[in-house]
Amino acid sequence: MNESPDRTSIPPRPYMRAVANGDEEEPPSRGPRHPIWRDVPDHLWDDWRWQSQNAIRSVRQLRDLLSFTPTELEAIGSLEAEYKTAIPPYYFSLIDPTDPVDPIRIQSVPSSLEKENPSGYELEDPLEEDKDSPVPGLTHRYPDRVLLVTTHVCTMYCRFCTRKRATMVRGGWDAISRNDERMIEYIRDHREIKDVIVSGGDPLTLPTNKLKFFLDNLAAIRHVDVIRIGTRVPVTLPQKLYDQSLIDLLASAGKVWIQTHFNHAREITPEAARVCLALLKGGMPVNNHTVLLKGVNDSLETMRDLMRALLRVKVRPYYIFHCDPVIGAGHMRTSIWKGMEIMEGLRGHMSGLGIPTYVVDSPHGGGKIPLMPNYLISASDDAVVLRNFEGMLVRYQAEDRPTTAQPTATRGVSSLLQGTKSALIPENNERMDRRRELNVVASYEDAAEAPAEGGCSNGEGHEANGHSTARFSLDVLAKGCGS
Ligand code: SF4
Repeated sequence: MNESPDRTSIPPRPYMRAVANGDEEEPPSRGPRHPIWRDVPDHLWDDWRWQSQNAIRSVRQLRDLLSFTPTELEAIGSLEAEYKTAIPPYYFSLIDPTDPVDPIRIQSVPSSLEKENPSGYELEDPLEEDKDSPVPGLTHRYPDRVLLVTTHVCTMYCRFCTRKRATMVRGGWDAISRNDERMIEYIRDHREIKDVIVSGGDPLTLPTNKLKFFLDNLAAIRHVDVIRIGTRVPVTLPQKLYDQSLIDLLASAGKVWIQTHFNHAREITPEAARVCLALLKGGMPVNNHTVLLKGVNDSLETMRDLMRALLRVKVRPYYIFHCDPVIGAGHMRTSIWKGMEIMEGLRGHMSGLGIPTYVVDSPHGGGKIPLMPNYLISASDDAVVLRNFEGMLVRYQAEDRPTTAQPTATRGVSSLLQGTKSALIPENNERMDRRRELNVVASYEDAAEAPAEGGCSNGEGHEANGHSTARFSLDVLAKGCGS
């Protein structure tokens, strides 16, 4: 029997902080439980059917478990008629009940802010998926990929869901006609389709025979190389994947990649880690989508923790999506600059394995548009000026041929293009300090004969001479400032 601390008196989730920080020697095999489920036997807690049957689905249940103001209760009560709620006890137990802006709560519990749409920019189908649908239930947008909406059911209904018109909206699915046979037929008839995203809703909630229908048929189509299963089951109901026969069924298709959706390091529990490992052992790569959400993960520290926690369970961070302008999610959307700030703080600070691509999914069905800070600063016929994560500007010659630039008195970035300098290095560069400590500048005296333009540039950085080596750049750095 799993004993949980009284989460109203003890700071919550110490084990999750440990997982997030990677400093737990022997992580426990289970996450926390809210006290109301303390006495549930482990065999039931680990049973996805029990978790589904006992999911929190109403405001009446929520008000007994979390605090709300009377105004909030009234507002979310009025939302109930329109939108579904489902939060399995496992996922609910990740919420800190004392924190009204807990990141797990924001994702799963209805908010009075969902009624607001002050800009009028939020739409029912913000990506216009239904307009790129040659066959009901199938979206064909990119040249070699299609998306299948196979179900409206999810284990937990994310309040920011792009497809809430089909998943969360009561009766929404009834308005979406679809035909499973015709979807498969369309893929069979279009040899250019190499990659099929099986989504929903969550396809891992499909009855086994229906999931098998999609997997068997797609596996049998020779021109389909990749079947991507888009699922939040590892995040919100990992117990479903304790069933080895489900893992075996997914693996049997031989082409399956898992596309999951962790948004916060606290979601990477021992249970989630266990099923990610099981999927990997079954031969299925696991990639992660994260949605950038205000109050959930809109800080550099939180995103770094998430990316590192994903790598620890061997899940590849794939995308950070800007939150789509779907009705009811306006309060969770951030500025684009927030995404850029996060990407600036990821690149260079951790392995490329942990760097997802930040994308905006364009209105009018324009598809994913990648955004990143600018690393290309300037260019000439001979070279480009690039910026690294430290703010160092370097001249880079991509082609091996003589330069064409005429010698011209110039400075700064222009001197990098001219080729009279090779780099501009910010002051107090830790890497350069480390080199100095390693005595890489031991030959400083030898370099003293170097051309004079390699000196310190008035405290705004250091200029390294373009005809010298990287070591000379360091020599100049040491010489110029004597630091
Ligand atoms: S699991 Fe995916 S499809 Fe389901 S509600 Fe969440 S975001 Fe939407």
